[in-house]
Amino acid sequence: MSKIRVTIWNEFRHENLSRNHQYYHQETVDLYPKGFHQAIADGIRADDLDIRCAWLDQPEQGLGEEVVNNTDVMLWWGHMADEEVRDEIVKRVHSRVLDGMGLIVLHSGANSKIFGCLMGSSCTYRWRDIAERERFWNIAPSHPIAQGVGEHFELQNSEMYGEPFDIPDDGKVIFMSWFEGGDVFRSGVAFERGNGKIFYFSPGHETYPVFYDKNVLKIIGNAVRWAKPQIFAKHSRPKRAPLEDIPSRKPEAITSRIES
Ligand code: ZN
Repeated sequence: MSKIRVTIWNEFRHENLSRNHQYYHQETVDLYPKGFHQAIADGIRADDLDIRCAWLDQPEQGLGEEVVNNTDVMLWWGHMADEEVRDEIVKRVHSRVLDGMGLIVLHSGANSKIFGCLMGSSCTYRWRDIAERERFWNIAPSHPIAQGVGEHFELQNSEMYGEPFDIPDDGKVIFMSWFEGGDVFRSGVAFERGNGKIFYFSPGHETYPVFYDKNVLKIIGNAVRWAKPQIFAKHSRPKRAPLEDIPSRKPEAITSRIES
């Protein structure tokens, strides 16, 4: 069985020690000294996955044709620098999703160009960061992404993302979150676009150890396997011959009917 080729794409600005970016957070570096991408890669590593990592400051923003065309499932963590992602890169990833690639959008990736362009809506939500408790309710226990996760689980410190979340209503809601401060959020939602599958999963704030949580990692791993492409095929609009042997009724037949 061939392995699922996974690319974990990370903005990598909050926690990139080697560059002095305006978005640098020491607390994020302390939590994720090798970046979110490496924490996620280590956390979901398994024999059926062939994982590579990519980030914004690499050539072609980490998503050159060779990378994108050899990815079955992409993970996306983006935040403050999303506007820097070039439109041609977004177009490349978008086209690959429509062809069949899976895409797992994490946390503030809800604001990314690629998610907005796949959803066709603003994808906005309410937010508050006071390290409150978040409880995830597993409301689709038979769904492949929910396997091995109990009825509910909690993160003791989380950034609140709350409704209204402006996403289309064709998504299958798998997790629903409750926050200590009273808000609720559709925290795990699965979509299909073209031949590709998309899963939005909300946890992942940069100042909490979310990507070490066993439930979060379990769900991301499940989502990778669920989003694995069944086929890769371009959508096209070919002119097609009839299956039955029928004569063309154009244009003479139409003209004669109008005249008679
Ligand atoms: Zn956040």
